[in-house]
Amino acid sequence: MSKERAPYNLDEIVEIVADALLRQALEFSYNIDKLPRPIREVAEKVIEEYKDSLIIIDENSIIRCKLCGRGPFTKKGFYLHAKRVHMETLKNIIREKLVTVLWQKATRL
Ligand SMILES: [Zn+2]
Repeated sequence: MSKERAPYNLDEIVEIVADALLRQALEFSYNIDKLPRPIREVAEKVIEEYKDSLIIIDENSIIRCKLCGRGPFTKKGFYLHAKRVHMETLKNIIREKLVTVLWQKATRL
């Protein structure tokens, strides 16, 4: 039996997508292949929509947090900051978006 079961629980999915969003914002690699395909398609759209909303990079390549203005951060530093301070906000946005889009898909005539 595979020890990595599919994450079908909404909270687990939201957590995976929020982490992927952070990683994409920082141009780190991420992998959401294990998500069920209909969810993955929505997740890709959400990541694309919000990836530029998290950080500001100035002309000196200094990273600041777009959500609270704090910085400067290294990429790794911002990743940790966002995980610690903004994860609940990101998860709420993603949960809302996933549920809304999946509901629309499910009820489309
Ligand atoms: Zn912040």
